[in-house]
Amino acid sequence: MEMQKKKVFILGSTGSIGVSTLDVIRLHQNSFEIVGLTANRNVGLLLKQVAEFNPKYVVVREESLADKVSANLPKGTILLTGEEGLTTATRVANYDILVSALVGFAGLKPTIEGIKRGKRIALANKETLVVAGEIITNLAKEYNSEILPVDSEHSAIFQCLAGEREKEIEKLILTASGGPFFRKSKDELKNVSVAEALKHPNWEMGSKVTIDSATMMNKGLEMIEAHWLFNLPPNKIDVTIHPQSIVHSMVEFVDGSIKAQLSSPDMRLPIQYALTYPERMQNSFTNTKLTEIESLTFHKPNFTKFECLQLAFDVLEIGGTAPCVLNAANEIAVERFLNNEIAFTAIPELIKDALKNVEIKSEVNLETIIECDSLTRKYFKV
Ligand code: NDP
Repeated sequence: MEMQKKKVFILGSTGSIGVSTLDVIRLHQNSFEIVGLTANRNVGLLLKQVAEFNPKYVVVREESLADKVSANLPKGTILLTGEEGLTTATRVANYDILVSALVGFAGLKPTIEGIKRGKRIALANKETLVVAGEIITNLAKEYNSEILPVDSEHSAIFQCLAGEREKEIEKLILTASGGPFFRKSKDELKNVSVAEALKHPNWEMGSKVTIDSATMMNKGLEMIEAHWLFNLPPNKIDVTIHPQSIVHSMVEFVDGSIKAQLSSPDMRLPIQYALTYPERMQNSFTNTKLTEIESLTFHKPNFTKFECLQLAFDVLEIGGTAPCVLNAANEIAVERFLNNEIAFTAIPELIKDALKNVEIKSEVNLETIIECDSLTRKYFKV
């Protein structure tokens, strides 16, 4: 009897995670099939993906590009557009797994659609948990939806926790590469260029998460993500700099034992695990040669040099919509830095400015979150 293929919908198929997910699917064609693909503006790549994977649903976020796409779609493919198109497609398409790999706040609403249908969510879009962690985790429980982490650190922790008891966790240890500026002084950070900030030592990723890695906001967002995924307070989540990016994260237990997950850095491994869990499948892309790695080192993070990391701990302490303000201000600041409008060191300044001036509400629901995101953008005239 032929095995039933799992149906996969990828939000953000033209991005770094989306492309890696399609690599995994290509390798396991007997186990998975694609039913939905989406892009913002990169319709050239989207159309190539459509020709190869023949999805039922295609969404183009940028409505002005819709005609270009519709003229080139195979018969029977359904094209939807805009923000509304993303939520409609995730609400109606027939899939088993939703790969949530849009970047930023845009991922929130379509991810919720998948959760409300009780689907498995392979979650890369960490911003969703940063802005609405409580809402998302409650909805996942209510609708019996499994949220499996794609972020390599959270996948590592998830793997370390297999067979363990929650009450016996002493702490989570999130590893961070330290980014391209780990060895630069705070003063030197003032003049770093966009090109330098985009040169990540170990990972090739989309531009937003690469800049987040350089400021270490990425680790701050991941700390908040871990807090919600694993139900632990921030004082039980440590950050350790590990420049080799071989140990993807660790869990320390009450008896002092520490478990770690190791592999060469390749996002296709955690993506595959989120798709195949609880099974593991062979692949051709993980090839960790421990004897060729000279050493594995661990260092304390510098919270004064990398203020964004501190700010992430601060907003979790403040609670309410504060993480949402931080997230929106960070998205705006990163975009301005990428457009050469502000200096690298202005990124935490913009975030502090927003946290001081945008109203923070203690009540968290979908309305207050959406309002808070738009108020923060209005504050910066976006
Ligand atoms: P990319 O920038 O490479 O891709 C983002 C995807 O989302 C693209 O398909 C893009 O379309 C689409 N998109 C961008 N903006 C919008 C929008 N406003 N509305 C709808 N679609 C949009 O990002 P990554 O793949 O690097 O990252 C995706 C998520 O995964 C992020 O949350 C990131 O933090 C997280 N992550 C990424 C890792 C990585 O290795 N890249 C590692 C761990 C987590 P288009 O191509 O047309 O612009």
